[in-house]
Amino acid sequence: MLKGIGVSEGIGIGKALVIESHDIKFDSYAIRSINEELERYHKAVEKFIMRTKEMANNIATNASEKEAEILFGHIIMVKDPYMQGEIESLIKSGQCVEYAVSKICDSFISMFSSVDDELTNQRATDVLDIKNSLLAILLNIEEINLKDAPPETVVVADVLTPSMTSGINSENIVGIITENGGATSHSSIIARALGIPAVLSVDNALQNIKNGDTVIVDGNKGDVIISPNKAAFAEYSKKQLQYIKQRNELKKYKNAPTVTADGDKKLLFCNIASSDDALKAKECTAEGIGLFRTELMFLEKDRLPTEDEQYTEYKRTALTFRHKPVKIRTLDIGGDKIIPYLNIEKEENPYLGNRAIRYCLKQEDIFLTQLRAILRASIYGKIKLMIPLVTCIEEVKAVKKAIETAKEQLKENGKCFEENIEVGIMIETPSAMMIADILAEEVDFFSIGTNDLTQYIMAVDRGNDDVSYLYSAFHPSVIRAIKHIIESGHKAGIPVEMCGEAASDPLMIPLLIAFGLDEFSVSAAVTLKTRRAISKWSKAHAKKVAENVLKMKSEKEIVNYLKQEAESCGSIL
Ligand code: PEP
Ligand code: MG
Repeated sequence: MLKGIGVSEGIGIGKALVIESHDIKFDSYAIRSINEELERYHKAVEKFIMRTKEMANNIATNASEKEAEILFGHIIMVKDPYMQGEIESLIKSGQCVEYAVSKICDSFISMFSSVDDELTNQRATDVLDIKNSLLAILLNIEEINLKDAPPETVVVADVLTPSMTSGINSENIVGIITENGGATSHSSIIARALGIPAVLSVDNALQNIKNGDTVIVDGNKGDVIISPNKAAFAEYSKKQLQYIKQRNELKKYKNAPTVTADGDKKLLFCNIASSDDALKAKECTAEGIGLFRTELMFLEKDRLPTEDEQYTEYKRTALTFRHKPVKIRTLDIGGDKIIPYLNIEKEENPYLGNRAIRYCLKQEDIFLTQLRAILRASIYGKIKLMIPLVTCIEEVKAVKKAIETAKEQLKENGKCFEENIEVGIMIETPSAMMIADILAEEVDFFSIGTNDLTQYIMAVDRGNDDVSYLYSAFHPSVIRAIKHIIESGHKAGIPVEMCGEAASDPLMIPLLIAFGLDEFSVSAAVTLKTRRAISKWSKAHAKKVAENVLKMKSEKEIVNYLKQEAESCGSIL
């Protein structure tokens, strides 16, 4: 078995069509005129942009806006003034254009690859993609068109160049394997957009796979199996069928409203950690963002993100969703999320210590900077502020005061913001749960964080394997807590969301419907599954199930019963 990066989901089984690596080797030559070389370079860039734009527009219209956006990113990269300047000055120093493109791209590739950060590493594969395409254009390398490949073909190549992929379609190409390329390369974008299973960055694929070999491509796991035996063939054929069935079933829920079986409307949001994630959320037709975890921006830097950097990220997300809600949670650090440059003192019990809003209320500068960034972005959409780990009313009042201070500061600087921005809190501590009625009077919405709520109610560290058998939201204590929070919110007339993992658990969904939860916020990967699961329950059925669950005494009994009920109504896919 060969290993690579699974960049496009699904299982493909077919015969290998090995495309020998393009020989993009060249010999440097003495140039005739600098201007001529510069013109060749600019023409190649123009051609690259034209082809990429065409491909991006095609993908945006026929398949996926998110994937198209990555391609537009390649155009921005090839036009990058610094990169262009470096290439031009090498040409001006007398080098031929092929050498200049190769040399400068290679230096960018090695710079991006040396950084210990996945996103930056991906930039390296983007530049490699650009370099190969520019060289192919410059050297007039005839590119292979895959339009005429026979049905059930698995393409094996060094990289998929743009022109090679223009004729690709999922009717004949059932899998893609390449030796190079990462998650943002052309190859992976095309594969995802067309729904073709793909594994990239497979070392020595061209050496190990022969034309006509039977190959299995497992795009979920990043595995490539060459000449499988009977048992493996049967196992993967079964998996393939299951996957196709699931995908077709879930397609029905794209762009569909989120409703229970008897037509009760719910809202289905996504949890995200960046404005890029927001594009994925939009792609899977989420109805907004129920939780923007802002920690990532702080974690991936070696310094605090500036107000402008944060503002740009929030604004981009707001614009992605326009009139749909985007709930931005203020910095939730501490516990398992450590930011080294903040030098937070090591604590005996970090989960019970200086976490989240407790930390922010003490670090006025950091908190006000984030509040100003969120407020400034609020004019671009329907941004709401969400506060993590609240335990008492004093915290809510202090947050409101800080928001007023941030507004004053913005006014002084002539900056615009949404005056009536909504402020909600996460209910994820037993204290907040017990005083939900008091807190509800002060805020615009609740969001139940079952990940922490379960940890604190069960007194079980959510990351400790030794006690993980106790970590379940199906304990009667947690279920009663959820019911109580939803009822308290509704008594005060505010909507209640759940953004913890339990919101997408098909076993929890009937209980949430029965208790009247208004909004579900889940990860992008399970959005359609959640919409489908909600559609399988009528309120009457869910209520009956919840009534029975509330009489039960143990987690095990509850889970077993919910499994039976979920199977009977087909809510588990
Ligand atoms: C939660 O606690 O349920 C939650 C959504 O927050 P996080 O997982 O980020 O702590
Ligand atoms: Mg939490």
